[in-house]
Amino acid sequence: MADYEVVIGLEVHAQLRTRSKLFCACSTEFGGEPNTNVCEVCSGMPGVLPVVNKKAVEYAVKMGMAVDCTINNDSVFARKNYFYPDLPYGYQISQFERPLCEFGHLDIPLADGVKRIGITRIHMENDAGKNIHSAADNASYVDLNRAGTPLIEIVSEPDMRSAEEAVAYLKALRNILLYLGICDGNMEEGSFRCDANVSLRPRGQKEFGTRTELKNVNSFRNVQRAIEVEIARQQDLLEDGEKIVQETRLYDATRNITASMRGKEEAHDYRYFPDPDLIPLHLEDAWLEEWRASLPELPAQRLARFIAEYGLSGQDAELLTSERELADFFEAAAKEAGNAKKVANLIMGEFLRELNDRQIKVADATMTPQAVSELVKLQEEGTVSSKIVHDIFSDLFESGEMPAAYVKQKGLVQISDSGAIETAVDEVLVENPSEVEAYRSGKTKLMSFFMGQVMRKTKGKANPGVVTKLLAEKLG
Ligand code: ADP
Ligand code: MG
Ligand code: ZN
Repeated sequence: MADYEVVIGLEVHAQLRTRSKLFCACSTEFGGEPNTNVCEVCSGMPGVLPVVNKKAVEYAVKMGMAVDCTINNDSVFARKNYFYPDLPYGYQISQFERPLCEFGHLDIPLADGVKRIGITRIHMENDAGKNIHSAADNASYVDLNRAGTPLIEIVSEPDMRSAEEAVAYLKALRNILLYLGICDGNMEEGSFRCDANVSLRPRGQKEFGTRTELKNVNSFRNVQRAIEVEIARQQDLLEDGEKIVQETRLYDATRNITASMRGKEEAHDYRYFPDPDLIPLHLEDAWLEEWRASLPELPAQRLARFIAEYGLSGQDAELLTSERELADFFEAAAKEAGNAKKVANLIMGEFLRELNDRQIKVADATMTPQAVSELVKLQEEGTVSSKIVHDIFSDLFESGEMPAAYVKQKGLVQISDSGAIETAVDEVLVENPSEVEAYRSGKTKLMSFFMGQVMRKTKGKANPGVVTKLLAEKLG
């Protein structure tokens, strides 16, 4: 069996969260009555002129800056001609020969270190509307509310070598968009979507093999599965001595297969040309400087800061910054608690487990960062044992109650007062004279027996450190 190398390049579309559309003043709001956010411009009436939304340009440029692209002061909008009912102009306004951003890269974390993925270009375009097919009415409808929503297309170099790498790249890209606050990153609703180009080549060969382009992948899991199943399909064909046909394929998630959508013969010739209604987009240096200066802290910078400021390991900092909300949550808790490492451990352990068990996001948790920091403080000052923290976490997570009040109400406060513990220790020693004697004659294993007895007397609330110390003194 020949050994093949996988080659993957991704084309990612991200909807920009501007209030109005790219070339008109219509609202971009999602979920309204069909065809209510529509005007002469975005419905493609003749004789009207598009005007570029500066905020959308700012967002696109910021994404370019975040992935170290060269930002072109002058770029050109071009018409991409094709017909589809949800595209009233008969063309999409995009950028072709001179895109807004080029030559960037993104470093992604992999199990064996960081890998740099090249970003070929980022260009701006407007979104199409939506066709709605109704079986009940035996009719198709067109909703133009989405038509004209600003998009950026982020095109990567064919630098990825496995489905895992593609998913890691996508996650990192989405994370940056969320940190920038320019896209809501919702794959299910289509505000963050991806086409995956996949090919195989015999390991060691320099030229790339023929690729297929996979569409219709609307979750990270499906990106992973679609690529894997396409790799297997191509490998089978190549091993049988057959050729790969360059084509667009649709992923069918229920059957977990890819199926041909259109071949190369049917591939669109888009006849791109500069849009005569739009003058070249010229960006003043002053704007670029202003936008660069207003970039927020990005995931990579935050990761470095978490290591430096909170003494976290690289791995922990990576996990905690992998989602903006999680990083915000950690940071809010760490600032109050003081012991950032303990906070990190609690969040990465108990907190993420609870989220995962319930399949919910950080934003949906009723538990607050203040509750986490209070819990860490209670443990730090010896009010509760680590065992109690573990036992009550789920309850706290569920109810959103503050830990100090909860612990007090349930009577879970750890006994650290050595007077009270000493009484319990003395009682245990008096009640078990033969074990005491055995211990003194060398059976030191009995220490855990005494420990258990004291804990029983104190209903698990005695500070174990204090118990051990007292037992050692009295038995010694
Ligand atoms: P198109 O616009 O026709 O899809 P591009 O040349 O712009 O074509 O390439 C689109 C994407 O395909 C890019 O992300 C690129 O990295 C990727 N790509 C190009 N060649 C290959 C290949 N042989 N195997 C896998 N991906 C590829
Ligand atoms: Mg393509
Ligand atoms: Zn409009």
